[in-house]
Amino acid sequence: MTGNSVPAEMLVPRFMGGGDIGFASKQVPEPGRGQLLIGVEANALCGSERGQFFEGSSVTPGHEAAGVVVDAGPETSTAVNTRGVIYLMDFCGECRSCALGFTNQCTNKRGDVGFNRDGGYGPYVLVHENVFFPTGDDVPLAEATMLLDVMGTTGHAIRRGLMLREDVRSLGIAGAGPVGLGALAMARILLGPEIPVVISDLSPYRLDLAGRLGGETIDLREKTLLEGLREHGLEEVDLAVDTSGKGAARQSHLEALSQRGVLVCAGHGEGLSLDVSRDLIAPERAVLGSEYFRYDELHPNLRILREHLLYLRQIITHRFVVRDIQEAFGIFLRGETGKVLVVP
Ligand SMILES: [Zn+2]
Ligand SMILES: [Zn+2]
Repeated sequence: MTGNSVPAEMLVPRFMGGGDIGFASKQVPEPGRGQLLIGVEANALCGSERGQFFEGSSVTPGHEAAGVVVDAGPETSTAVNTRGVIYLMDFCGECRSCALGFTNQCTNKRGDVGFNRDGGYGPYVLVHENVFFPTGDDVPLAEATMLLDVMGTTGHAIRRGLMLREDVRSLGIAGAGPVGLGALAMARILLGPEIPVVISDLSPYRLDLAGRLGGETIDLREKTLLEGLREHGLEEVDLAVDTSGKGAARQSHLEALSQRGVLVCAGHGEGLSLDVSRDLIAPERAVLGSEYFRYDELHPNLRILREHLLYLRQIITHRFVVRDIQEAFGIFLRGETGKVLVVP
């Protein structure tokens, strides 16, 4: 059943460890029951791949992939040539979480694409049909990768905050890496441009990009968060999203929260210390975690991407062909980029 354009073997990047990426030949898998074979058109680099880059990986990494269905196994309904993106978590669809739509909290996950299953840096990826999300023919596949971590993870974090705080008049974002920039863009779109979004980082490159996306920037090499907020005419923020994973950033944003304020932690990393009476009980603040996003959030986010494509595409600053993936990682990890894509 394999389409005649699909080869038997493919060349895939191999993350050897120590920051070295080689290439190896692998068999192109054939889709079984309920599975699709995707021909990858673009995959975005992610800070969460730092571990695979330095420690090596037994699978082909890549979890922000967009591509085209090139072959479909039995008991699937997605047509060959359908374009779309791949949701990272291979959720079961049946557990208590999945039944309510919380696919990012599946208790019986079959795997994580790019972490313990071969992912999107290879030319072809085998996935279960339920993790493929069709994006239509009008959105370029390079830009469609933004539906994943850039818009998905951040939209989820902001929506979780808005569940607890309806009257958000100001927002703080810790970290202006690709997820921080995504959070800034999604906040501007979801809350409207009249709500100030203050974003802090140490990288002038990233702060400059954040400024162009409409953020009020704070350069933490020069001032504290509170000093920066005051310069922007703010004493506090109603909602804060930490994408940095840094304890100091979480702490300073917690302290900058208004009464009834919400801090959403979306970046894995360091801790946060709470004086429960002072920080939580008296001001009725909340601290939330937010992990990836629900599959069904891809629908509203696709509408947003269509409507704001020219604005959102500014977050993608570099594109490399896959054979230059080593160079792509070098530049990306130096921090002087927005989102970096590799394409075939
Ligand atoms: Zn990622
Ligand atoms: Zn499940």
